[in-house]
Amino acid sequence: MLFKKKKFERQVLIQKDVLDSILSFCQMKHPNEGILILKGKSKNGEITINGLVIPPFSETGPTFAGFPHSFLPFDMSYIGIVHSHPSGSAEPSVTDLHNFFGLISLIVKSPYDDDSIFAWDSSGNSVPLSIISK
Ligand SMILES: [Zn+2]
Repeated sequence: MLFKKKKFERQVLIQKDVLDSILSFCQMKHPNEGILILKGKSKNGEITINGLVIPPFSETGPTFAGFPHSFLPFDMSYIGIVHSHPSGSAEPSVTDLHNFFGLISLIVKSPYDDDSIFAWDSSGNSVPLSIISK
């Protein structure tokens, strides 16, 4: 192992308080989808999520959630979006991948608990996600 080059491991770290806010927001929006912008930073493939922004002019329904990206201010701390799937599948849809924003996409499925959240990259590959305390 000594000679093995350090692998570029991608992972997502999310603060517990941010996760709790996401979960209660999605619960509140149920049975519609909820959508939020993720704030955070990315370093060496490690994405840390430490805040949320409610997107302007967002539109949601039972099977869609979106907002016009053109209304977003250019902000380097906006690293992705999170949205909910009230139907109970955490797989990104074709539309989700088409509307990919930033570096990472989190999807929360019902019943919106700590095990209901999954991270995806722009190709639809799953990225390991860990919960951290501040
Ligand atoms: Zn979706």
